[in-house]
Amino acid sequence: MKHCSRIELAMYGGRALGFLARWRVRLHLLGCARCRSILQQLTDDETLIHALRQARNDFMLSDCGAPEEIAARSGGRDGDSAAP
Ligand SMILES: [Zn+2]
Repeated sequence: MKHCSRIELAMYGGRALGFLARWRVRLHLLGCARCRSILQQLTDDETLIHALRQARNDFMLSDCGAPEEIAARSGGRDGDSAAP
């Protein structure tokens, strides 16, 4: 089973995923305690959620479900803050 990426989970937690991606992550979470645990950690990280909410604006406009692309634009590198 392929696990969700941290970015996917963060976007799920921040309600930044499109319908299909959200549905796919939700299905995975139903059967995967590991990803549920990661999601819980990520949703506790307000900095990441804040950054993802800003990225969501771009996401809505482009309307394409490529989490890795969103991550690249919103500071997916470790230790690199995307906050203004
Ligand atoms: Zn998983």
